[in-house]
Amino acid sequence: VTVVKCGGAVPAEPVCADLAGLAGRVVLVHGGAVEVDRLAGDLGVRARTLVSPSGVTSRHTDPAMLDVVTLALAGRVKPRLLRALAAADVPAVGLTGLDGGLLRARRKTAQRTVRDGRTVIVRDDHSGRLTGVRPRPLRVLLDAGFVPVVSPPALGEDGTPVNVDADRVAAAVAAALGAERLVLLTTAPGVLRDAADEGTVLDRCALDPAGPVPYAATGGMHRKLIASREALLAGVPRVSVADGRVPRPVTAALDGAGTTLE
Ligand code: ADP
Repeated sequence: VTVVKCGGAVPAEPVCADLAGLAGRVVLVHGGAVEVDRLAGDLGVRARTLVSPSGVTSRHTDPAMLDVVTLALAGRVKPRLLRALAAADVPAVGLTGLDGGLLRARRKTAQRTVRDGRTVIVRDDHSGRLTGVRPRPLRVLLDAGFVPVVSPPALGEDGTPVNVDADRVAAAVAAALGAERLVLLTTAPGVLRDAADEGTVLDRCALDPAGPVPYAATGGMHRKLIASREALLAGVPRVSVADGRVPRPVTAALDGAGTTLE
């Protein structure tokens, strides 16, 4: 089994068409931060950011934003992928983490955030960390020849939906399925030595099991390296970050394009 994660800014059609020969052996995981922000704007829901005391930023998923995240991923991004898969004659079924008990998570009930120069506690954030994957619904679909299309949110231990990082969902799903490959498709040719220069893509990138991830990666790429390391430590033998903007992005990545994490 191969797990492919597709960033929200990656064009859907080439990725979906490229999965035609892999039905029954591939799981597609997606996020969609761009579409979440767009829908929040359409609905007039304020997008806010949490800033940890150490400077790490994340989306403030208050109850209104949790609805927007769920609507954007399940109602806009996922149907777009399912339409592109149908157009390429690929049998596919969309799921969120709530379907079949697929993804479980623990919500952060109290978080320190810096606001106007002061550290305050936020208690209404509905994001959190994955605590478990139940691979059975995926196995049933794979055995029947479908491509499962998976996205956040997960089901929280308190019974409410919890927003989780899609790269880490892909890593956890790959580990739970015993996948041979995890491919993170994004809007960069791979992990770059210099984030500002697309000519500096690394063929291989070593991740220290306990130490910090490489300094050059910020924002989304930093999260991808964390997710990659989680997958490697959980026994996924081959993990790569590759370009989702090329004509046959999955085939190219499986043939070695992009950066192999080790
Ligand atoms: P996605 O939406 O595809 O999951 P993100 O936009 O969250 O991806 O993260 C990918 C982005 O990370 C790239 O488009 C790039 O702008 C940025 N980035 C930062 N540092 C690096 C790096 N060292 N190598 C590659 N990309 C980097």
